[in-house]
Amino acid sequence: MSLFSASVLADAPVAAPKGDRVWHPLTLVMVLALWLTTLGNVPLWRALWALNDHHDLRSMLGLAAFGVIVLAAMAVLVSVLVWPRWRKPMGVVLLMVAAANSYFMVTYGVVMDPSMMVNTLQTDLREVRDLLSWSMLIVLVWGVVLPGVWWWRQPVQKWPALPLMLRQLGFAALALVLMWVVIWASFQDLASTMRNHKSLRYMVNPFNTVYAGTRIVAGQAAQTGQPLQPIGEDALVVRSASAASAAPLIVLVVGETVRAANFGLAGYARDTTPQLRQLHDAGELSYFSQVRSCGTNTQVSVPCMFSHLGREAYGQSKQPFENLLDVLQRAGMRVLWLDNQSGCKGVCDRVAHANTRELKDPVLCPQGECFDEIMLHVLPERLAELERGSLSGPPAAGTVVVLHQMGNHGPAYFKRTPDNMKPYQPECRSQVLQDCPAQDIVNAYDNAVRYTDHFLAQTVRWLKTQKRPTALLYVSDHGESLGEKGLYLHGMPYMMAPTEQTHVPMALWLSKPMQAQLGWDAKCWQNKATDPITHDHYFHSVLSLARVKTRWQQPERDVFSACATGSPQAEAISVPTNATGHSAKHHHTRAG
Ligand SMILES: [Zn+2]
Repeated sequence: MSLFSASVLADAPVAAPKGDRVWHPLTLVMVLALWLTTLGNVPLWRALWALNDHHDLRSMLGLAAFGVIVLAAMAVLVSVLVWPRWRKPMGVVLLMVAAANSYFMVTYGVVMDPSMMVNTLQTDLREVRDLLSWSMLIVLVWGVVLPGVWWWRQPVQKWPALPLMLRQLGFAALALVLMWVVIWASFQDLASTMRNHKSLRYMVNPFNTVYAGTRIVAGQAAQTGQPLQPIGEDALVVRSASAASAAPLIVLVVGETVRAANFGLAGYARDTTPQLRQLHDAGELSYFSQVRSCGTNTQVSVPCMFSHLGREAYGQSKQPFENLLDVLQRAGMRVLWLDNQSGCKGVCDRVAHANTRELKDPVLCPQGECFDEIMLHVLPERLAELERGSLSGPPAAGTVVVLHQMGNHGPAYFKRTPDNMKPYQPECRSQVLQDCPAQDIVNAYDNAVRYTDHFLAQTVRWLKTQKRPTALLYVSDHGESLGEKGLYLHGMPYMMAPTEQTHVPMALWLSKPMQAQLGWDAKCWQNKATDPITHDHYFHSVLSLARVKTRWQQPERDVFSACATGSPQAEAISVPTNATGHSAKHHHTRAG
C-alpha cells in the first residue's frame, strides 16, 4: 500500500482488533526514542557522568538538560525515519546501530566519526572475525534480539497515511522546538562541555553514524565524476653518469599499527628491535625518532602518505590525485606493491600489485592467514616477473617495491607472530582486550613488534644479496592505544588522538653501493634523526631517494634535501615512459 492510497479524509484509526493492547503509532515511536536515548546510549551517559568528580546541583541540571536535548533529537530522528511501511525493519536497524556502536565504544574506547566509519565499512570479514567475542554476543542479545523481537511483535493501530504523516511530522516539529529551547537555556555550560570534550559529539548513538554516513556519501559524491588528476608529468630520474647502469632497488615497508612507544630503537625499556639495533650500531641504519602519522587509521594514513598534498590539504581535497607510485612509474621506474593486509586503499591501482595474505604455505600461513615474511617469500619471483615483463621497453631507471605489512594489526596481536617467535610471555590470546591483564596485552603487542624487527632485518639481509644498489625505508602507518586513558586500538579523530596513536617509528637503511650512487654524506640524514618529521615528508623524501626530479616535489618536505646538494658528478637523465607504462622515447644525455 502506498503512502497516499488510503483515504486522506479519514482522520481516524481503523478499528483495531479487541483484547490485546494496540499501540498508537506515535506512542511506539516515542517508546523507541526513549529506549535509544537511555539504554542505546549507555557509553555516552557513562562518559558524561564521569566528567565531574562531585555531582552538585549544577552538574546534575546540566546532565538533565543534555538528556532532554538528546531525547528530543532522538524523537525528531525516529519520527522522521520510522514510517509505517518500514516501521519494523527500521526500528531493528536503529537498535543494531546503537548496540554495535555502544559495544565498540565501551570495549575499545573508540568513537564513531567519519574516518572510523570508513574503517568499519572497509573492514573485511576476516577482521570482523577477529572482533567477535562472547561479550559482543551478550550485547547483541540484550541490545538487539530481545528488544527487536518485542518491537517486531507489537500490534499497532492502522492509520491512514496522510493524517499519520502529519501527526508524526508535527510531533517532530514540537520535539525540535523543545530541543532548541533547552539548548538555548543551557548554552553556556553545554558549549564549554562540548569544547572541552570533543569526543562526546561522536558518542551520541545513532547520530554519530548518521552524521558519518552522510559525510562519507557527500564526500564520495563530491569525488566521483571528478577525473583523476595527474601529477608529476615532468618526472624523470636524474642519476650520476658513472652509476647510470646500476638501477637501484628501493623497498618501502609500510608498517601497520606499530607505535614508537614500544619500538626498541625509540628507547623503549624492552629491546623489541634487537636486529635493527645491530644494524643501527653498525652505522648502517638510521632511526627517526620524532615522526607523526597523517591519520590514526590505515584508510586515512596510507593514501595520505603517498599523496603529495600532506595531511591538511589531503583532508580537504575534493579532487582525487595520482600518487607517489604513479610519479615513480612515470619517471621510468618499475613499481610493485605486495600486500599482506586488507589492500592498498587505492594507492596501487595503476601499478603491479599482488596480495599475499591468503597464499597457501604450510610454514608461513599455518592458520590460513600469512605472516609478513610471506612477502619476502614471493618477492624474488614477482620481481623477476615484473622485470621480465618490461624487457621489451627501455631499461628501467630502477625498481620500487612496497611491502604493506600486517604488522601489529589488532586486537588479535597474538595472531601476528609464529609460535616460536614469542619471547614475551604470557600473551593475551583474547579478542576482547579487557579480558586480559594489561601486561599480557603489551606482551602480545611487543611480540608483534619484535616480529616486525625480524621481518625488516630479513629484508635487509635479502637486499644485501642483490647485485645492485639497494635501500629500505620503513615507517608505520599509525600507532595504537594499549589501554592508556581507557583507550584501545586506534582511529580516534586526529584532533583528539593521543600521542600513542600518532607517534610512529621510521627507519632508513642504505647499502654501500646505494650510498655511493646517491653520493650523499651520511651526516645529512643522520642530522635529521631527531627532527620533527611527519607522513607529509614521505612523498617528497622518497622522490629524493629514487632521485626523481619533478616540480611537484617540495624541498621543505624532503628529509634528504640537504643531502643532494654538492653532488658533483655528471648527470645522466633517463627520459620517462608515458603514463600507460609503454615506452615513449628514451635516451641518455651527458652533461658536463
Ligand atoms: Zn593501519
